[in-house]
Amino acid sequence: MSYTPITPARLAWAADGTPFSEAFGDVYHSVDGGLGQARAVFLGGNGLPDRWAGRAGFTILETGFGLGLNFMATWQAWREHAEPDAVLHFVSIEKFPFVRADLAILHQRWPELAELSAELLAQWPEPVAGLHRLHLAGGRVCLTLAFGDVEQILPKLVLQADALFLDGFAPAKNPDMWSASLARSVSRLVAEEATLATYTVASAVRQALHDVGFVTEKMPGYGRKRDRLQGRYAPQRRTPPGQRPSASRERRAIVIGAGLAGTAACARLAARGWQIALIDRQPGPAMETSGNLAGIFMPVLTADDNLAARLSRAGLLYGLRAWPELEPHGLRWQRCGVFQIGKDDKHEAEQARAVGLLGLPESLVRYLDRDAARQLLDVSVTGGGWHFPGCGWLSPPTLCEARLRQCGAAITRHYATHAARLQRDGETWQVFDAEDRLIAEAPVVVVAAGGEAIELAPLMGLPLRRLRGQVSILPVPPVPALTQVVCREGYILPPIDGMNLIGASYDYGDLDPTLRHDSHAGNLYRLNRLIAGAGEGIDPAGLAGRVGFRCVAKDRLPMVGPVPDFAALQTADPARSTLANLPRQAGLYALLGLASRGVVWSQLAGELLAAQICSEALPMESDLVNAIDPARFWLREARTS
Ligand code: SAM
Repeated sequence: MSYTPITPARLAWAADGTPFSEAFGDVYHSVDGGLGQARAVFLGGNGLPDRWAGRAGFTILETGFGLGLNFMATWQAWREHAEPDAVLHFVSIEKFPFVRADLAILHQRWPELAELSAELLAQWPEPVAGLHRLHLAGGRVCLTLAFGDVEQILPKLVLQADALFLDGFAPAKNPDMWSASLARSVSRLVAEEATLATYTVASAVRQALHDVGFVTEKMPGYGRKRDRLQGRYAPQRRTPPGQRPSASRERRAIVIGAGLAGTAACARLAARGWQIALIDRQPGPAMETSGNLAGIFMPVLTADDNLAARLSRAGLLYGLRAWPELEPHGLRWQRCGVFQIGKDDKHEAEQARAVGLLGLPESLVRYLDRDAARQLLDVSVTGGGWHFPGCGWLSPPTLCEARLRQCGAAITRHYATHAARLQRDGETWQVFDAEDRLIAEAPVVVVAAGGEAIELAPLMGLPLRRLRGQVSILPVPPVPALTQVVCREGYILPPIDGMNLIGASYDYGDLDPTLRHDSHAGNLYRLNRLIAGAGEGIDPAGLAGRVGFRCVAKDRLPMVGPVPDFAALQTADPARSTLANLPRQAGLYALLGLASRGVVWSQLAGELLAAQICSEALPMESDLVNAIDPARFWLREARTS
């Protein structure tokens, strides 16, 4: 599978000033007013806002985000009518999103939405395919934009919608948005008592909806339209929803591990009002592998846009939206730019080709040959490669601390405490220390303790290992002019507080925690391969540094999700097993295997896990969720044996 670039919509207007799509030959909303239509047809047709009374959350699925008028009308109503702590999940699919500047022009037509529009536009994503989750209104509104063709992306959504806004262009002009297969996909994503609303009463649309279990009725239309349609889901037989049941109604969890993984879980659970007991064997957060001075954030890129590439892009883009909010809590990071030199001539040619093939926005990546790179970076890099202008470095310990500060009183800290044993007692997990004293108990446990995790009995079946990595800190800048990160097999960061970080070794099967000269020498060798001569004349014996152990799964992808029930797996039939129906250990979740990409992956992994725990709309497509499911190895092995 390769990446399908996103083509932004073109700004245009009908003669009467209504926003118009030249590609589809149709207007974006009723000529009698977009906001009025949103309220009468989409909110009204779904019984909103009345149905929000007494609800802690509500999920809406929309086909066609367009200008976001339906979304903003819903947000506005939510502000006024929803319960104070309730969260609105609004998931909307769009194949041709407007770019930010055009959306800003369009929104000027509705001055009453100015405040909401400004908040939305501040986080508005670049036109990049996939899911983009935006937390708005202090977390009370969660918008998940699914950029891509409805036919392809709808089957990959994981959610249970309480209401559907069906809002493609007119069925005759935009048949893809009203097909029978779309109706089937939609019916897989609805909750009990779901409703739908749309402006069209075309008979083919009504038939397609009827065929998948919706009962619809025509109602008086908005403005000059005679009718509109509303409906509810009332199937003869209900297919089981594609989401696992919630582990707990009680919002209390234990998180084991206070590094990048564990603090991300804390942050995203606390944002949902959870209380968390955080346990770490060290006297504070981020004192093991997440304690490095700085880590790089950049995406993985492959010409075929494989799972690892999509996952890293999703994590990066989500992180880039989250991190600015953590600055007031002490996060240190810099979007100085990252240049990734090709491994050799062949790889460099592949890099150039991939950029052309993928068609990602230039703000994310572009290819520079060696001369262009030398000119831009003002240092003599050894080759051409990918330039990621919006990427850079981030200090992991400040990220961990900032997340915990943001959580405030939601966290009870148990530092210098070794979680040695986990035990399930009825509906509760209990965590004991090495002296078998109870540390904490809660219905949910998230294990985010890196490679050590498999020493805990309920996780012993997970195929994880620890991979040694040593970074070196040079006393004087080897490349004084350097202002951006440069990487290849190794990396060099621009000076941070007078410290010059280079890294990192990959020492398989090596569990030595002490700093070693040979690892420093390796880092200097890799530095020379970045910038000719930069590591020469530096004595490895005199260098400072740090050793950490990456937690790596067999396929190098993270392990995020509910932990399988290894005992029950022994008797499970591989032929009938899917990730959705495999037995799991209730309330036990893993956030592990972040390898060398904890900076890029952790924020989104924390959000995914929190959404899974709370049975909410997931922030990632199902194939990505499955690719990092902790049970994936069992399924693969069972099927091939
Ligand atoms: N709900 C929007 C609002 O409140 O502003 C208006 C939506 S407009 C009527 C229809 C939208 O469907 C357009 O933005 C269009 O780009 C999108 N669309 C059309 N075909 C699509 C497809 N195959 N997949 C995803 N989106 C599509």
